[in-house]
Amino acid sequence: MNKNLLVLPGDGVGPEIMTEALKVLTAVNDKFSLGFTWSTGLIGGAAIDATGVPLPAETLVAAKAAGAVLLGAVGGPKWDALPMDKRPEKGLLGIRSELDLFANLRPAVLYPQLADASTLKPEVVSGLDLLIVRELTGGIYFGQPRGIRDNDGVRQGYNTYVYDENEIRRIGRVAFEAARVRSGRLCSVDKANVLEVTVLWREIMTELAAEYPDVTLSHMYVDNAAMQLVRAPKQFDVMVTGNMFGDILSDCASMLTGSIGMLPSASLDSNNRGMYEPIHGSAPDIAGKGVANPLATILSVAMMLRYSFSEEVAAAAIEQAVSDTLDSGLRTADIASEGVQVVGTQAMGDAVVAALLA
Ligand code: NAD
Repeated sequence: MNKNLLVLPGDGVGPEIMTEALKVLTAVNDKFSLGFTWSTGLIGGAAIDATGVPLPAETLVAAKAAGAVLLGAVGGPKWDALPMDKRPEKGLLGIRSELDLFANLRPAVLYPQLADASTLKPEVVSGLDLLIVRELTGGIYFGQPRGIRDNDGVRQGYNTYVYDENEIRRIGRVAFEAARVRSGRLCSVDKANVLEVTVLWREIMTELAAEYPDVTLSHMYVDNAAMQLVRAPKQFDVMVTGNMFGDILSDCASMLTGSIGMLPSASLDSNNRGMYEPIHGSAPDIAGKGVANPLATILSVAMMLRYSFSEEVAAAAIEQAVSDTLDSGLRTADIASEGVQVVGTQAMGDAVVAALLA
């Protein structure tokens, strides 16, 4: 098994949270003699500044050679005025598509210690544990043609929302497999009342259901799903949806858990080789202040150990260390409620390492 990792800290809070995640990786590597090594590369704005492009060829070569990639976040106002195809986010879309990371797993778990940090009532969110499976390399974010054109003297923006049946089938299988080892319930989210591409999505999901008799499939329109996620989120176990709907719904789900700073993600190819990153962005408003929550990135390390390397014991040890740290009362500002001890990024990372080694 290839245990050489590529680490891409990226922009904004990316390098800050990655420093803490690497401390935890170092600790778990030593404690369980895992044998991981890693090197660091450039992506996003940091890559633009150093090389002129958001995804340098060297980074792509290193990513393809690595056993897994750990990513911080990309983007920021410094690069917002660049043309779309030269912006930091293009680096992220590029690496996902070049590595064929079509399956994005976004668990939203509410730690019981953080029930107060959610803006929803504790009884609505307590015990929440759902998984959003988002298609990541297709749909409207990648569809051609796209652009801004002149239409008889009026500027017109356009994108293409397209999925073929094979793309739908392969993400569907990932979701059915995930549902099978959880509660056996899968909700497919679409907009089949308006968009033909999601009529096909619904048809393929329904076809697949015949192969998974142990999984109960339901369908929901995306507008209703957004409403149900904040009304009664515990009705869901596994949700599967396309790229754009998944992007939006998973950010929505993140707030159920108190903060976007708590949620890890895995993006996998068909061999479970993957890239692991927090679901949040580069948080320019707090970058450089040492206050970002590193737990989403630390939990992404746990996901990496579980999904790409089957190191379940080490993954669970990281998750337990995060839980123990929250038990001890430490909170970064984003998950703080009244009367708790607020700490910065570094102190939170140190506390997780201490809990891991305790
Ligand atoms: P964001 O996720 O960066 O921030 C949204 C809000 O959440 C901000 O108030 C931020 O301070 C807060 N937040 C985010 N991460 C946090 C953390 N770890 N701890 C505490 N608070 C945290 O989203 P945005 O503001 O819409 O985007 C900022 C930049 O990030 C943009 O350039 C955007 O394109 C980029 N972005 C990148 C990714 C990625 O790299 N995967 C994802 C989303 C957005």
